[in-house]
Amino acid sequence: MLINKAVRSAAVCCAGLILLTGCGSGDSSSDSAGSDVSAAKDVFAMDTFMTLKAYGPDAEPALDAAADRIAELEKTLSVTDKSSDIWRLNSSAGQPVEVSSDTMTILQKAAEVYDKTGGALNICLYPVLRAWGFTTSEYRIPGDEELRELLENTDCRKVVLDGMTAELPSDYQVDLGALAKGYTGDEIMETLRENGVDSAIISLGGNVQSLGTKPDGSMWKVSVRDPFSPDTDMCVVEIGEKAVITSGNYERYFTGEDGNVYWHIIDGADGYPADNGLVSVTVIGDCGLDCDALSTALFVEGYPDACEQWRKSRDFEMILVTDDGKIYYTEGLSGSFTNISSMPAEVIPDA
Ligand code: ADP
Ligand code: MG
Repeated sequence: MLINKAVRSAAVCCAGLILLTGCGSGDSSSDSAGSDVSAAKDVFAMDTFMTLKAYGPDAEPALDAAADRIAELEKTLSVTDKSSDIWRLNSSAGQPVEVSSDTMTILQKAAEVYDKTGGALNICLYPVLRAWGFTTSEYRIPGDEELRELLENTDCRKVVLDGMTAELPSDYQVDLGALAKGYTGDEIMETLRENGVDSAIISLGGNVQSLGTKPDGSMWKVSVRDPFSPDTDMCVVEIGEKAVITSGNYERYFTGEDGNVYWHIIDGADGYPADNGLVSVTVIGDCGLDCDALSTALFVEGYPDACEQWRKSRDFEMILVTDDGKIYYTEGLSGSFTNISSMPAEVIPDA
């Protein structure tokens, strides 16, 4: 059931978005009107290639400060670094653990989105991800009984957050992989702003976030990858200061001995990779953390529930791609969305 043409045709396993003109080539001098100084930096962190580009006279030191902030967050949020908050939490055997405000902010968001999406976003699924080998790349297909047992310890409502303290039931383990890059994007932007930059664009493994507008005052153009052919682009969106964050089934996956393809976003309902009709979800909004949490959750929820989530709040925009090769986008993108694929694209109906 999990064979999917999006994955079968994937030639390159990489993130879902690239910058069209944001971090494009030519990273020095006179990009366009308004600023004649820019700097770029590539960072590998959180298992992800990150590209940062900033404009203005303070761009270079600001990017150095951003790289330091990324390193700090990686150390705090890593699930494998023994000094991280998450490692301490996962080895706490039911005892309360004091965590940083970064970790607490993400844990609170995870709890909020767990509730709002009926458990579709569930950071407690880490033991299930481990069973599939997604944490080590030593992939395997767990048995149904094994999954059933692991799922018994994944009720996110049992995670207690109190002040700066978090407490997991023993046998619980969490992983913030679904939200960490969005939060990191927000923090990079804050660091750049504090260091005198008001125009910047970054791509964290395909999650794009921008600060201000391009130096000449025009919009950034961000392309979203075609999940059926991830080395090509599917559409372009024009944005001001936004986060554009994608979850797709082509980002990390393996082919099992049974010939089926299994990917890294898990449905807590059965412990299998989420296969509810969507192959890619892009969420566009003001806050990277919110968009990252939602992109993973909506991917798990599937098309009808994703549309319902949007209708309820309407405080974000989204682009969905269904497994039968159709693009659906919210009406707020109408003026800024260009389909460059051969797939049909239509606006999601109001009701
Ligand atoms: P990516 O990190 O590939 O850009 P996502 O933001 O969608 O994409 O996060 C996927 C990661 O989230 C997985 O690698 C895994 O660590 C974790 N994860 C998988 N399924 C879930 C889920 N249902 N809820 C929360 N986290 C999940
Ligand atoms: Mg996410």
